[in-house]
Amino acid sequence: NQDEAKLKEYLDELEFLAFTAGATVDKRFTQKMSQPDSKTFVGSGKAEEIRNYIKENGITTVIFDDELSPSQLKNLEKEMEVKILDRTNLILDIFAQRAQTSYARTQVELAQYEYLLPRLTRMWTHLERQRGGIGMRGPGETEIETDRRIIRDRISLLKEKLKTIDKQMSTQRQNRGKMVRVALVGYTNVGKSTLMNAISKSEVFAENKLFATLDTTVRKVVVGNLPFLLTDTVGFIRKLPTQLVESFKSTLDEVREADLLIHVVDISHDSFEDHINSVNQILMEIGAHQKPMIMVFNKIDAFAYEKKEEDDLTPSNRKNISLAEWEKTWMSKSKYPTVFISALTKENFPEMKKMIYDEVLKIHISRFPYND
Ligand code: GDP
Repeated sequence: NQDEAKLKEYLDELEFLAFTAGATVDKRFTQKMSQPDSKTFVGSGKAEEIRNYIKENGITTVIFDDELSPSQLKNLEKEMEVKILDRTNLILDIFAQRAQTSYARTQVELAQYEYLLPRLTRMWTHLERQRGGIGMRGPGETEIETDRRIIRDRISLLKEKLKTIDKQMSTQRQNRGKMVRVALVGYTNVGKSTLMNAISKSEVFAENKLFATLDTTVRKVVVGNLPFLLTDTVGFIRKLPTQLVESFKSTLDEVREADLLIHVVDISHDSFEDHINSVNQILMEIGAHQKPMIMVFNKIDAFAYEKKEEDDLTPSNRKNISLAEWEKTWMSKSKYPTVFISALTKENFPEMKKMIYDEVLKIHISRFPYND
């Protein structure tokens, strides 16, 4: 069943996110509903089932694979009496752990406050209603009002700070002159940093966790006598919180201002097509979808090919398709130059480098037409 396979992939990813954040997942709950319950996201029966499980097994946190509304979050906390996280909150938490420079920290802090603010608002409205509103200026209300004001002030301050840094970074980018700029883009954990290291022979942090790279790294690279700037950017993910897309403006500007994109894909991942779609979606959102692009299918050393029964012809079962067959379909389907590599074993590196060289040369020539 295709829906079930999707569901499993989504929850696998959520579990990986939880692992990255430092949690161990004990159990998964799923429910089929035409739309989420407005009060508790899951239905009341399911909520009860989860609550019982929490009690019996000493669970400390429940994570939802979607963004919960402020009231859903509040209701669930009240009902389950443990920490409730949603996907956005979890991603923000990981970003907070990963932020290394003051710039990245400022960006994440801003995103976190923007996430928090409406959630405080709801809580406040809720309290107000409970107490009958007008004339009921209790201490709780004042406290939350104060909190809101502090958060709003903090948000403006962080925005000012980011504006200044953004300006500095934009000047920095301009000062890089007419050098051709190439940006690595791709879903999180596909091997961008590893590839960056391999191409530029530098040491960029690579780890089998999500979002190892939060800050952009720019390296001058020379391929076949042709120099260009190569940038490693933050990995994309399905349902990237909008607060983060906005606050990582400068990081994404690297992508927006690049001359060429290298879209890295982890072909050993079961849902790599979904990943490609998510990345394209974000490229569209930031207005970078019409740039020249090279598709690099990475991790071919880890591609699992497991042929099932001879008569099992289910087209959705990719395990039936060998890498050679994949290469054929993608090469003929893609409108971009496409190459299959392993950043780890460096298989097909010469082909990839030639491809990058050709594309960079094209841009170079269009920029300096009379410079032979
Ligand atoms: P990023 O998040 O896209 O920058 O990904 P990283 O470069 O941090 O790599 C994520 C994980 O994938 C690391 O554990 C890498 O060692 C691993 N990895 C990267 N390239 C390859 C590859 O070609 N083959 C295999 N098997 N693993 C790879």
